[in-house]
Amino acid sequence: MVAPSSPVPNLAPQESAYTTALTQYDRAAQILGLSSGMYETLRKPRRELTVNFPVKMDNGEVRVFTGYRVHHNTARGPSKGGIRYAPTVDLDEVRALAMWMTWKCAIADLPFGGAKGGVVVDPKQLSLAELERLTRRYTTEITPLISPEGDIPAPDVGTNPQVMAWIMDTYSMHRGYSVPAIVTGKPINIGGSAGRFEATGRGVMFVVREAYRTFGWNFDNLSVVVQGFGNVGSIVAQTAYEMGCRVIAVSDIKGGIYNPNGIDIPRLRLFLREEHTLADFARISGVDVITNSELLELPCDILIPAAMENQITAANASRVRARVVAEGANGPTTPEADDILIERNVLVIPDILCNAGGVVVSYFEWVQSLQQLFWEESDVMQRLERVMVRSFRNVYSEALRMDIDLRTSALVLGIRRVVEATRVRGLYP
Ligand code: NAD
Repeated sequence: MVAPSSPVPNLAPQESAYTTALTQYDRAAQILGLSSGMYETLRKPRRELTVNFPVKMDNGEVRVFTGYRVHHNTARGPSKGGIRYAPTVDLDEVRALAMWMTWKCAIADLPFGGAKGGVVVDPKQLSLAELERLTRRYTTEITPLISPEGDIPAPDVGTNPQVMAWIMDTYSMHRGYSVPAIVTGKPINIGGSAGRFEATGRGVMFVVREAYRTFGWNFDNLSVVVQGFGNVGSIVAQTAYEMGCRVIAVSDIKGGIYNPNGIDIPRLRLFLREEHTLADFARISGVDVITNSELLELPCDILIPAAMENQITAANASRVRARVVAEGANGPTTPEADDILIERNVLVIPDILCNAGGVVVSYFEWVQSLQQLFWEESDVMQRLERVMVRSFRNVYSEALRMDIDLRTSALVLGIRRVVEATRVRGLYP
C-alpha cells in the first residue's frame, strides 16, 4: 500500500475537522471518478438544524444555549450519529462528524446514513438537574429531525447513557408512550443493549488484533498508549490489558500518566470511579506524570488517540514513534499528518473503520429495541467481532487491490456503497 499518487488535490491548510473531512472526501472522490452531480451531492450535508434555546439554571437565571443536528446522508437508511456536549462544538465540527458517520456506517455495511448533533456547553460546569433540563429542551428542539425511523442519536463526547435516557424519556413523553428505539447507548434497564457501552473500545482492539494477524505480526506483550480515558479510551485500555498488552500510558484532558512496565488498568478504573484523578493515581502508585503532547510521542507499538480531533498534525507526526496508530477518536489525524505517517511506514487504521464498534452495537440495540427482544452480551460481542473483522478485511483487500493506504481505501469503499445506493434509488422527482 502506498499513498495515492495522482490524481490527488493539493492539501488545503488544516483549519478544522470539516476541512479534514472534505479533504479526505476529495481524495477518495477523485479516485472513484465521481460525476460532478454525485460529487456535490455527497459532499454537502442533506439537512442542518441550528437551535438556540433557553434553560433555567439552578440559581434562577436563564441561559441560552446553541445546539445543532446535521443529517449528512440518508441514501442507505435512517441517519445515525452521536450527540456531543462540549464548549468547542460548532456547525463545521458537527458537519464533519456527520459525514464520517455516513462513510463509517457504509463500511460496516449497516443500513444507516450519517448524522451528528451537539450542544455548545461544558457539561462539567452544569449540575445534574441543569444538564437534564438542557437535554430535555435540546431534544424537544431537534424533534423535527429525530425519530426511530428517520434519525437515531447516540452518545459521544460529553454525553452518556443517562443523557440518552433523558432523550428517550422526553421523546416518549411527547408521543405518549415509550419509544426506546429513538436513541441507542441508553441504560440496559430501559432497553439498552448489553455490550453497547464497551462496544467502541472493544471494536478498536478487535480491528487492531485482526491487523496484526493479517500482517503476520506478533501480538504478544505489545506496548499501547491511549490518549483520552472516557467512554472509548478507558475500554480500549481495559481490552488491550485483557488481551495481554502492556498499556504504558493513558491521559485525559488534564494530562497523562506513564509507566514503561505497564499500568494496572483495572485498578486505575476502580480508583477513578471514586472521584479521583489520573494525577492522584500517579501519586499513590509512583508512575510518571506526562503531558498529552509527550504522550503522543512515546515509543510504543500501538498509539490509540481516543479523545478529540486534530491531535496528530504536521507539527508532531514526524515525532510519533508508534508502529500502528489506531484511531479510537474521530478525526484525530490531519491529512498532512497522514502523509507524513504513510511516508514513515506507520500503519494508520482510520477512524471510520477502527471506531465503528459503537455504531455497530448501536445498530444491534436499535434492532433489539424495535423488536423488544434482547440478546446476551456474548452474542453481541461475537457479532461485533464478526462485523469488525469483516470490515477490516474488506478495507484491506481494497487497499491491496488499488495500492492505496487504509484510510483512502476505507473512504473509497464507504463512498462507493453510498454512491451505489444513491444511483439505484434514483433522483427524486
Ligand atoms: P468522553 O467524553 O467519554 O471521553 C473523552 C476523553 O478525552 C476524556 O478522558 C477527556 O478528558 C479527554 N479529552 C478531551 N479533550 C481532550 C484533549 N484536548 N486532549 C486530551 N484529552 C482530551 O468521549 P468518548 O465518547 O470517549 O469519545 C472520544 C472520541 O471517540 C471522540 O472523538 C468521539 O467522537 C469518538 N467516538 C466515540 C464513540 C462512542 O461510542 N462514545 C464512538 C465512536 C467514536
